[in-house]
Amino acid sequence: MVPDIFDQDFTPTPYWWEAYRPTAGELVDVPRSVRVAIVGGGYAGLSAALELAKRDVDAVVLEANELGFGASTRNGGAVSGGVNVGKSFTGRTTDIDPVRVTAMLADASDAFALIDRLIEEEGIACCWEKPGRFVGAWTKKHFDAQTHRLAVLNAAAQGAAYMVPRERQREEIASDYYFGGMVVDRSGKLHPALYYRGLLEACRRRGVAVCAKATVTALSPSGAGWRVESGRGTVTAGDVVIATNGYTGWVTPALRRRVVPLASHIIATKELPEGLARSLVPKGRTLSDTKRVLCYYRMSPDGRRMVFGGRARFTQVNATVSAPILYRYMTDRFPQLRGVKVTHAWTGNVAFTLDALPQMGLRDGLHYCLGCNGSGVAMMTYLGWQTARKIARVANYACSFDTEDFPEHPLYSGNPWFLPIVGGYYRLRDNLDRLLT
Ligand SMILES: Cc1cc2nc3c(=O)[nH]c(=O)nc-3n(C[C@H](O)[C@H](O)[C@H](O)COP(=O)(O)OP(=O)(O)OC[C@H]3O[C@@H](n4cnc5c(N)ncnc54)[C@H](O)[C@@H]3O)c2cc1C
Repeated sequence: MVPDIFDQDFTPTPYWWEAYRPTAGELVDVPRSVRVAIVGGGYAGLSAALELAKRDVDAVVLEANELGFGASTRNGGAVSGGVNVGKSFTGRTTDIDPVRVTAMLADASDAFALIDRLIEEEGIACCWEKPGRFVGAWTKKHFDAQTHRLAVLNAAAQGAAYMVPRERQREEIASDYYFGGMVVDRSGKLHPALYYRGLLEACRRRGVAVCAKATVTALSPSGAGWRVESGRGTVTAGDVVIATNGYTGWVTPALRRRVVPLASHIIATKELPEGLARSLVPKGRTLSDTKRVLCYYRMSPDGRRMVFGGRARFTQVNATVSAPILYRYMTDRFPQLRGVKVTHAWTGNVAFTLDALPQMGLRDGLHYCLGCNGSGVAMMTYLGWQTARKIARVANYACSFDTEDFPEHPLYSGNPWFLPIVGGYYRLRDNLDRLLT
């Protein structure tokens, strides 16, 4: 039986859409010819288009659905500067050569600086704050592993990170659920849909054609460039950027085989009594944990609701399935929220890569920026920006995520049929770890 957690005003759409709901608006015509065609109109696509426009390179953004349909208006709005780089959906942190780790964390730190700068320069009102993040340790062993990672994070990503022992945990969260954890001071939070709208407006101010309802259906080489066929017309372009992340489809089969689309789910509660709301996360940080199947959460920008996310299932499921699971995770951490009603529940896709690293580069003549691995507000903005700078030939250093090495697996053809099994297995492993700690 579905527990009675739903408010009478419940809606299965993102809470963020109350402020900006993805819309096709007045449909912009697909131009016949441009210098750069960008496939996918999320943060990555818009950020690439914006940087190209600043460099006087004309670009079109072709978006299959309404503007903001993808993860960019559905996420938790936690903005990190590298704490998750290399963390796969199995919870394992990839073994990467230490020199490359340093370069990647430095790029992740630059991603944080870029988003901070963009919001300021473009005057984007998106409730941007930098209160830091608390990452709760699921087991004692995880606490020790976090302690070990601290030095690298601080040296390469200027994370200003430090450990908080279990005895002082209540300074961070009104809960005894974790074995202490790590604070990463250089982290922030924003309203994801308002950030999206701000990027969209910045593109429009510079005359970028952002075309909704223009699914790209075929890409073929044409002369020195590309012929890009969309549901609303064909455009020829010198360069093409694929920025489709967790929605990457069969129009780019080689890329589809290299990303695993995974669902992530969120619930938002009804407004809480003021005292209770203020007590839950005393320093207003964003929170996540070290579980393989992690949870991430925060208070809404007005501080009145809990916005609680996690991989309740690895695939898209109905809110009647995901919301009760997330509700249980939430009340495990905050028993004081039992009985509170849920007003919104939603889902979206993220893209994991086989090495758990974000990727940009050139394959078969197509530029791509893909693979947020669950953490892409800053990173996908950054990879779009880096790709644009590369195309405009103004990049003055090589981004560490720009390599030829975008791994695939002989047994993965682009159909992630195995996800429910993998999800169940890792949830079991999490529970065993906790039991044995
Ligand atoms: C529930 C959830 C919570 C998250 N929480 C966080 C968080 O707290 N912090 C964080 O940093 N990250 C988070 N993320 C990840 C973050 O949202 C993404 O990394 C980021 O939004 C990806 O941006 P993007 O532009 O690459 O892709 P998207 O915003 O997903 O856009 C891709 C677009 O490509 C379009 N497309 C696909 N195929 C075609 C085609 N053939 N033609 C035209 N268009 C096409 C799709 O319609 C889609 O709109 C979360 C994601 C989800 C789903």
